[in-house]
Amino acid sequence: MIFELTPEQKMVQEQAKRFAENEIKPFVEQEEEQHAFPLERVKKMADLGFFGCGVAEEYGGNGMGFMESVLLAEQIAKVSPSWRLPFNMQNLGPALTVQEFGTEEQKQTHIPKWVAADSVGFFAITEPNSGSDVAGMKTTAKDCGDHWEINGQKTWISNAHVGDVGLVYAYTDRAAKYKGMTCFLVDLKKTEGVTTRPIETKLGLHCAPTGEVLFDDAKVPKDAVLGQVGDGFRICMWQLNNTRLGCAAGALGCAGGVLDLAIQYANERTQFGQPIGKFQLIQASIAEMMAEHHAAQLLVYRAAYLKDQKAPNQLETSIAKFYAAEAAVHATNETMKIYGSWGFSTEYPVERYFRDAKSFQVVEGTSNIQKTIIAGIALGHAANR
Ligand SMILES: Cc1cc2nc3c(=O)[nH]c(=O)nc-3n(C[C@H](O)[C@H](O)[C@H](O)COP(=O)(O)OP(=O)(O)OC[C@H]3O[C@@H](n4cnc5c(N)ncnc54)[C@H](O)[C@@H]3O)c2cc1C
Repeated sequence: MIFELTPEQKMVQEQAKRFAENEIKPFVEQEEEQHAFPLERVKKMADLGFFGCGVAEEYGGNGMGFMESVLLAEQIAKVSPSWRLPFNMQNLGPALTVQEFGTEEQKQTHIPKWVAADSVGFFAITEPNSGSDVAGMKTTAKDCGDHWEINGQKTWISNAHVGDVGLVYAYTDRAAKYKGMTCFLVDLKKTEGVTTRPIETKLGLHCAPTGEVLFDDAKVPKDAVLGQVGDGFRICMWQLNNTRLGCAAGALGCAGGVLDLAIQYANERTQFGQPIGKFQLIQASIAEMMAEHHAAQLLVYRAAYLKDQKAPNQLETSIAKFYAAEAAVHATNETMKIYGSWGFSTEYPVERYFRDAKSFQVVEGTSNIQKTIIAGIALGHAANR
């Protein structure tokens, strides 16, 4: 077992750290206030090769894998958890899924554009009445001979109102249940019958757009189907097992960012004539955060390593996502306490991490859903894939 990153991986990590420090940190608080998502930054990230991980060279890939994607997303999330989202939207979500299931034409048309951020990606699974229960979705796609007609509503979709082309899951045969779902490649801006609107009531992740997509007799071409008709549920689960890792990397970064803030404040803030970091109860908080952060890091890196080896990793990915999300929420909660009233103030960034961290317990399958996957595999009800 080797616990050392390669020199190239360390360079990738360093590059992302510099990018976060120079290109995000100086603007993050103002952008949070304005709920801004400058697309030029997504483009800059693409130009640095951030979204080519796991992608074959002929589609714009750069020879990097899941491990590098995790290292990049972690460093970015340390400064802004919002800005880890493009790793899933441009790379680990639609791009890798089309690479796995798409036709040669679909791969050539779409993947290079996502990798270069010439097209803003998204994936639309969740609906008002179906979140964890993916198979409970109501959206349908009807075969109309020379095209498909999609009807339904997707909600809580990252990039909904800024997105170009992405993945939409719908039932083509509801009676066939899990085998009746199909995945479509849909251009949100060019498809007649599609409207989008932002969700403006979010607790956090203010720089990561989230919204709704409505399909009203939306016409998509016959060749918009990804994989086979009826393969949608399997494709969706495959995709989530990858985007879940991106989420875990974000949680890891969030926990690491807030831990740095906690240590800095505990050394600076003086009460009863000494830095609060001298008090054992504060030390206990720091120690817990530190131990959990290290554990989360090992789990996230292990899941990334297994994916790069193309080894079974569903169990390890769910463990990493579950643990990193819980660690992020715990770390931000502890840091809020360490900051006292200043934790409660928007003048300090701690409350931003606190709000953002909660998202990690929800997205890409809630913490409960991760537990059901972990227990299911542990109990032998399902195989680790
Ligand atoms: C910021 C943000 C971005 C998002 N981006 C996207 C996106 O890009 N694309 C997309 O499709 N979706 C996206 N989502 C939606 C997200 O994936 C869902 O919110 C999530 O899957 C949970 O679904 P739900 O909110 O409907 O909760 P529900 O499924 O209604 O769950 C409610 C509660 O019940 C629990 N629960 C449900 N089923 C079980 C069970 N079997 N066992 C135990 N407990 C259970 C859950 O853990 C949760 O605590 C996003 C959400 C957020 C907040």
